[in-house]
Amino acid sequence: MSDITGLGFSVGLASGALVTAAVHYLYSHAKGSAPAPNSVPQGPVAVSTPSAEAAIARLEKQFTISSSQLHAIVKSFSNELKKGLQADNQMFLQIPSYVSNRPKGTETGKFLALDLGGTNFRVCEISLEGRGHARTRQKKYTLTEDLKTGSGEHLFDFFAECVVNFLEEGGLDKSFATSLGFTFSFPVTQTAINEGALCFWNKGFSCDGVVGHDVVRLLQDALKRKGANITVKALVNDTVGTLVSHAYSDPQTYLGIILGTGTNAAYVEKVSNLTKWKGETPNGEMIMNTEWGGFNDPAVLPITSFDHSLDRASSNPGIQVFEKLISGMYLGEIVRYTITDLISTGELFRGASSEELKKPYHFETAFMSRIERDHTLELADTKAVLEDLLKVPATSLEDRRLVKRICQLVGTRAARFSAAATAAIIIKINKLDGCTVAIDGSLFEHYPHFANRMRDALHEILGLSAENIVLSQARDGSGQGAALIAALA
Ligand code: ADP
Ligand code: MG
Repeated sequence: MSDITGLGFSVGLASGALVTAAVHYLYSHAKGSAPAPNSVPQGPVAVSTPSAEAAIARLEKQFTISSSQLHAIVKSFSNELKKGLQADNQMFLQIPSYVSNRPKGTETGKFLALDLGGTNFRVCEISLEGRGHARTRQKKYTLTEDLKTGSGEHLFDFFAECVVNFLEEGGLDKSFATSLGFTFSFPVTQTAINEGALCFWNKGFSCDGVVGHDVVRLLQDALKRKGANITVKALVNDTVGTLVSHAYSDPQTYLGIILGTGTNAAYVEKVSNLTKWKGETPNGEMIMNTEWGGFNDPAVLPITSFDHSLDRASSNPGIQVFEKLISGMYLGEIVRYTITDLISTGELFRGASSEELKKPYHFETAFMSRIERDHTLELADTKAVLEDLLKVPATSLEDRRLVKRICQLVGTRAARFSAAATAAIIIKINKLDGCTVAIDGSLFEHYPHFANRMRDALHEILGLSAENIVLSQARDGSGQGAALIAALA
C-alpha cells in the first residue's frame, strides 16, 4: 500500500480557499437547558377541531423521537460502526477511501472534477493557484430518468459528452491533457485511489452493467471513446470530498456528512482500528466512508407504517432504510403517504385527493421547506403548494395547518436521526472536546430549522459537550475535494 504515501496532502492553498462560503452555525442554546423532544423554533402549529387534534396526536406518537430513543440509536449505531471496521458484509460497509492525511500544502494546477450526487451531475474545473487562491468554473447537467435507469454505457457516455462539452465551452480542445477526480456518491468497494466497483445502486438509479464493475474504468473508457485526453486519477465519495475540502480551511474537521438526495458520512479513523484492512498509511489514519444510509436496526428505529409503504414501493426495498428516513429524496414521499392516509380517513381535504397527490414522489421535499417557512396567518404559500402545484381542490386553513404539522414532524424526525448518527461517530473517535462537522447537501442547506433541530438533538445526546461541536455548512466540497485529491494522486 505504499502508493498511499503519495496522498499525503501537500496541496497549495491557504486556509479558507476551498470553502469560501462556509457558515459556522455555533450552538446557541442556553447551557444546561435541554429542549423538549421535537421542539420546533416557532412552536407547533395550533390545530383546532377535535378530528384534527386526534390525527395530530396519533402522528406525533408515531413520528416523535424521544431523548431515550436517540440514546438507543447512538448505542446501536456505535456498535455497528465498530463491526464494519472489523469485517466485510456488515450493516455499515465502512469503506476505506484510500485517502489518509488531511490537507496542508502548496500545490497549483488545473484539475477537473465530476460530481455525480444523485439529482445533479456537475463538471467542475478547479484552478489551484497557490497561496490561498482557487477558482472554480462549473456546469450542472440534469439527469433524466432515462439516463438513471438505462444502460450503464449510455450513462457513462453522457458523462464523457458533458466533459467534452464543458472543455469546449471553456475554450479548450478535447485533446487538452488533464487529471480528473471523480466524485461518485454511491457505495463502491474501493481497491485503490483510482479503482472501485459499485456494490449496488441507490437513490433511484438502476443502470445495468455497472454493479460489480470498476466505475473508473467505465468512465475512462467512455472518455477514450469521445477522444478526450483525460486521466481519471481519483475516485472519491462525496462525503470524503466534503471532509477533505473543509479540513483544508478548518483542520479540526473530522466528519464530512451529506444531507442531499441521499445521506452518508465519512470520518477520520485510526488504521489500527480498521482490522479488516491489511495495509498502512503514512500517518496511521484513514478516511472511512461509512455508508451510514444502510443503518437498519429495527430494535431502535421506530419505523411507521408510512415508512414501510415507501420502502415496499421503492426500487430497493429493505435497503438503505436509514437513508429513507432522512434524505431529500424521501422526506416529501413520507409526507405524501401520510397525507394520503389522512385523506382516506376523511381527516384531510374532506376526503378529496388529486391526481398529482397520487403520483409517487410528486410531493417534493422542497415543498416541505416552503410549507415550514410559511408563517402567514392564512398559510398562503401552503395553499399555493397544495392547490396550485398539487391540484388539491380546495383546502381549509385547518387542512393546511395539519399538513404543516406533518411536515414539521417528518422534518424534525430526520434531523434528530441525523444528529444521533453524527453523535455516534463523534463519540467513537473521541472528539467530544471539540471538532467540526462539514455538512453538504441541499437538505441541510435549504430546509428551514434542519440545523437547529440537529443541534437540539445533539444537546440532548451529548449534554454540554454539544457546545464543542461545530456544524458547518460546506458548499461544493465534493467537487473541490475530488479535484484536491486528484491533484495529489
Ligand atoms: P445531490 O444529492 O444530487 O448532490 P443536492 O445536495 O442538491 O444534490 O440534493 C438534492 C436533494 O435535495 C433533492 O432530492 C431534493 O429533495 C432536496 N432539496 C432540494 N431543494 C430543497 C429544499 N429547498 N428544501 C429541502 N430539500 C431540498
Ligand atoms: Mg452532492
